Parts: sequence; structure tokens; C-alpha cells
Amino acid sequence: VTLLVDSHCHLDFPDFAEDLDGVVSRAGAAGVGLMLTIGTKLHAFPTVRGVAERFPNIYCSVGVHPHEAENDWGYAAETLIAETHHPKVVAIGETGLDYFYDHSPRELQQKSFRAHCDASRRTGLPMVIHTRDADDDTISLLESELAHGPFTGVIHCFTGTRRLAEACLAMGFYISISGIITFKSAADLKQTVAEAVPLEKLLVETDSPYLAPIPHRGKRNEPAFTRKTAECVAGLKGVSIEALAEATTANFFTLFNKVPRTALLEQAA
Ligand SMILES: [Zn+2]
Ligand SMILES: [Zn+2]
Repeated sequence: VTLLVDSHCHLDFPDFAEDLDGVVSRAGAAGVGLMLTIGTKLHAFPTVRGVAERFPNIYCSVGVHPHEAENDWGYAAETLIAETHHPKVVAIGETGLDYFYDHSPRELQQKSFRAHCDASRRTGLPMVIHTRDADDDTISLLESELAHGPFTGVIHCFTGTRRLAEACLAMGFYISISGIITFKSAADLKQTVAEAVPLEKLLVETDSPYLAPIPHRGKRNEPAFTRKTAECVAGLKGVSIEALAEATTANFFTLFNKVPRTALLEQAA
């Protein structure tokens, strides 16, 4: 049986402080053999890295969430790059544009996003991209940054339009699906995933503690629930859960290529 990877979770959040060991062991029991816990604020990054250091099958990213972009972090790629020499730091982000909440001015979200692109290009580490209600600016910013040199990454918790999916796939990015895909309201997203996102470009994630999939909707989400999302995506793609796990786990290691494949096996043993 192929293990799943939760490609995006926030295990440093206070929601998990009381029972992190239980969360990680329940993930293992559900066949989720590896987790990527995501940085959102530089001042909290030592906690994120600390979670990754504690467990052999947890890795992390370093970045500043678009919501946090106005909390001046210097906007210098070097600040991010300095954290990437650690063996458990395998990606840049999450970064991107969130025009749904607009918690930070759009200009600063873009400035922060560009600095992350620069860090990704210079380290060769993939980006974790958050984009909401910002299709046009996400596409044009990524296109203009790619003109300066190649980098890769994933559009996490994808909820965008088919046009956004197709543009990001054309630029070489992967698409990660969260528990939102299990919601009844997600008809357009289901159709986009079924018709426009090839199996070899798909990842799965929880974005926990948020966005618990059905039947856990409204409760705290956790990495073990990756399986519910994977089952839903397998149905949409017309493949078995085993084939879906095989593809998404292989894709994870292709994209996040600093993570050793042995990291997945350690949990299974
Ligand atoms: Zn996000
Ligand atoms: Zn996130």
C-alpha cells in the first residue's frame, strides 16, 4: 500500500500544541507517511522548524504568508535563503496573493511574493503558493518572474478557476488539492480537477488545522484526513486510491526533491 503525503499543514499552530504526538501517530495509522509543515511568519519560523526537527517524517518550508506581508520582514530573498541551509527546510513559502481577505495591501503582497520567487530561483527550492481571488495578478507576476530565470512550485489549496489551473500548469507548477474538494459547493473545482489537471501534476494536502474534509467538516483538521481528500480526488480522476497515492506521493518527491525518499518509509516501519 502506497503511503500518502500531506503536502501542506500548519503543525506549529496552537491548535496542535496539546496533542502533536497523537496527531502524528494518527497520520501514520491512516497511511499518511510524510508531512510538510508550512511557514507563515518569520518570527514563528523557529517553532515550525522545531516541529520538523522533532519528527523524522516532518519537513518544513520558510516563508511569509500574504496575510502577513505588511508586517515588514525586509522583503529580501537573502532573509529566506539564510534559513534554507538546514536539512529539514525544503521549500520557500507560503507566499502569494490573497485579494479575498486583503489582510495586507496588495502592493506589499506582490513585493513579498517577488522576493520569494527570487529566493526560489536562487536556492532551487520549490515555492508554496497561496492564491485567492487574484488570478490575473498571480499569472502575470509568475510570468514576469519566470522571465528572470526558472523556478518551480505548487499552487496550494487550489480553489481557482480552470483558466488559473491551465496557466499555472503551462508554467510548470503543480496543483495541490485540499478538503474543499469534498464539499458539495465545490462543483466547479471538481470539474476542473477531473478535466484539466493531469494526475502527474496533482498533490494532496489538508491545510490543517483549517478546512477539514467531509465527514469532519467544521472540526479541527489534521494530516490523517488527507485520505478523505485523496479518496475524493481518486474518484474524480477515475483511478483507484492506490493509484492516486502512488502518483501524488511520487509527484511530491519530484517537486520537493530535497526530501529523501527514505523519510516516507521511516513512519511505515
Ligand atoms: Zn494558504
Ligand atoms: Zn497554509
